[in-house]
Parts: sequence; structure tokens; C-alpha cells
Amino acid sequence: MVLCVLHRGPNLRIFFFSVNLRTGAEQKVVFITARVHPGETPSSFVCQGIIDFLVSQHPIAKVLRDHLVFKIAPMLNPDGVYLGNYRCSLMGFDLNRHWVDPSPWAHPTLHGVKQLIVQMYNNPKISLEFYIDIHAHSTMMNGFMYGNIFEEEERFQRQAIFPKLLCQNAEDFSFTSTSFNRDAVKAGTGRRFLGGLLDHTSYCYTLEVSFYSYILGGTTSTVPYTEEAYMKLGRNVARTFLDYYRLNTISERPLAPIPNTRKEKMPPFKCATLRGPGNSHPGRKLEKRSQTNPTEHSHSS
Ligand SMILES: [Zn+2]
Repeated sequence: MVLCVLHRGPNLRIFFFSVNLRTGAEQKVVFITARVHPGETPSSFVCQGIIDFLVSQHPIAKVLRDHLVFKIAPMLNPDGVYLGNYRCSLMGFDLNRHWVDPSPWAHPTLHGVKQLIVQMYNNPKISLEFYIDIHAHSTMMNGFMYGNIFEEEERFQRQAIFPKLLCQNAEDFSFTSTSFNRDAVKAGTGRRFLGGLLDHTSYCYTLEVSFYSYILGGTTSTVPYTEEAYMKLGRNVARTFLDYYRLNTISERPLAPIPNTRKEKMPPFKCATLRGPGNSHPGRKLEKRSQTNPTEHSHSS
């Protein structure tokens, strides 16, 4: 359900999905952005898949709407997209390098989104739990994520939970290709900047998806991506929040089966509990083993 459309800058639309939350209840917010790089069209299809699923009558979507608030900015660089740019905005900026100090006139969409995120972060009634920025990758296969490196080992481990769950839900998403870094050249990205700004209860990721194909887990079969496959990844991203928050115990039965679980050899978990953020309260974060992969492509995200 779209409750509100907010305009900040040219054609930027921020959709608010909600809720049926109890009055006064803390809102758990998942903030998603896409298409900051205009040439990365697959990110729009992934985002479309997320939106279509969340507004659908699927029982999982209903549960998600009842427990979480999704705020989605599907196109962070609308003028760049309109002009057919590959990476830059109308004024020639790579917006994903200007999160530290976006200008309201030079980077208006970024400025607006950052203001909104900071406002939410400072609102005691809102718990900003996830920030996911969707991109497409020109050299890597599969879907995968970039995350941050933190000094606190536990936080670093907890950050790996969502991509591991997504790897179990989506046949094209690879946890093996998921990596965590604090590369200096990425300091101005949404993922890096917000990872440093937000507190330990928030997780920030770049979600990447290959421009061309994915390898089925446990095989050498290469499957070309289609628009539908990108949207399916988006649907799987959305439904992974059901697992993360352990909402599957309260959803209606029977649920539609989760398609084509990816068969990827997973590293051992430190914590015995794998699925969801604990037994008592949706939203409590879990410990899990994470890894560092030094192979991040310098031209990505
Ligand atoms: Zn990108």
C-alpha cells in the first residue's frame, strides 16, 4: 500500500509502505534506494520486484506490511537516467561519492534522502534497521552484497545474517561473493557513510546484481539474467525479511514455497540460532560468521 509519495528534487519519489502498527509502537524501518548510477538498469528491475511484492496480496507481503515500514526511493538519479548517462547526474557528479556532504543544489535527491534518513535516525519512535542501496555490476556474476567492517566483532558478524539468509532464499544470490570492506574510495557511498553514521542496530548494504548472468549454486551452469529474474531477486530480498525477523511463525498457512533454494556451501555459524533475530522480539539481531573478500571491483557501486 502506498501511503504517501514525497517529492524531493526532480521526480524523486519516495514511497511509504505501511503498516497497521499499534499506536505508539516503534516503527522498524527498512530504507531502500536504487538507480543512483543511471546505467545500472538491473537495479530498477530488482527494486520493482521488491515494490511489486510488498504491495501484493501475497501472505508474506501482508505480514511484512504489518510489522515493518519500507521506505523506497527507486531512482536516486532521475536526471541522469533521463539523459542516458551511465554513472553521473545532470551536473556530472557520481552521486554515490557525495553522501558525506551532499549539496541541496548540486545533489538534491541525495540531500533529500540523507535528510530524511537522519531525521528518522534521530526520531526515538523509529528504529532504522536496514539501508540497502541497489546497484548492478559489470564484471561479477550473481547477486551479492557489500557490507562494512566494524571494530566490534559482534556487529561485524551480525551484519552477515541478512546476506546469508538471502543466499538461502535466492538461487542467484551468492554469499561467497559477498564481501565487507572499508575501502577509502568508497567512503562517499551510501553504504559506507550511513554505516558510519547509524548505530550498532542498523545495517547498511550495497546490493549488487550482475549485468549479465548468474551461476546456479553447486553447479557450473550459467543462467542469463532476464528482467523477470531481476524482479524475482527483488521479491526474494523482500521475503528474506520474513526470515530475518522470524515472522514466519505468525504468517498465515500455507505460504507459497520459497523457490529454488541456492545450494552454496556456507561457512559455519558461530551462533547456534540461524534464522531471525532471536526468540523474544522481532528485530533483535543475531550473531553469525562473516567474511572478508578482497576482490571487490573498483568500478562497482
Ligand atoms: Zn553502481
